[in-house]
Amino acid sequence: MRIVLLGPPGAGKGTQARRLSESTGMNHLSTGDMLRAEVAAGSELGLVAKGYMDKGELLPDSTIIAMIQQHLANPAGVLLDGFPRTVVQAESLDESLETANQPIDKIVHMSVDVDELVKRLSSRAICKDCQTPYNLVSDAPSKEGVCDKCGGEVIVRDDDKPEAVLNRMKVYEELTAPVLDYYKSRGDVAEIIATGSPDSVFEELSQAIGSGK
Ligand SMILES: [Zn+2]
Repeated sequence: MRIVLLGPPGAGKGTQARRLSESTGMNHLSTGDMLRAEVAAGSELGLVAKGYMDKGELLPDSTIIAMIQQHLANPAGVLLDGFPRTVVQAESLDESLETANQPIDKIVHMSVDVDELVKRLSSRAICKDCQTPYNLVSDAPSKEGVCDKCGGEVIVRDDDKPEAVLNRMKVYEELTAPVLDYYKSRGDVAEIIATGSPDSVFEELSQAIGSGK
């Protein structure tokens, strides 16, 4: 099964995709995670990526397409999170999958309110050392700035800071909203409202893809 998960940054795509991947065995392909791993490894791609991400900008289509393409042919199925982000990427994905005779099975769009999104995103934090995620509003570390699990430093990623968040919203509106229109014109987008609790959103998502649990 091949699923594309669409939605603005902060809609909870990553969290939901990880759960879905655990419950179905599908391979979770997150361009954000892949890029952050490259940044952490200090690779050539990572250095280029960091420059774009810190500003809340998207990487060039060709770079992202090359990175994702090598992972598409996974027999366990793939769950695309954060890709495609532009119409060029969507068209390229269609071409690759058609060539491999593995069309997309479901496109799911997770929508949320913009005010809530900005609030959600700018409260996200993460441990620099063990990558444990925190929420500074609802799930803050017990000692400010210190990871409960490993004592490492808890930081707000540069791409989650308010200025970058607002810019990501703008970028999303300009580049990614047309991707939704692109898929809608084919008439096969399942819409879910991602404002509820992670559990209820997961239930909706499971129903949308027909896994039934
Ligand atoms: Zn930690």
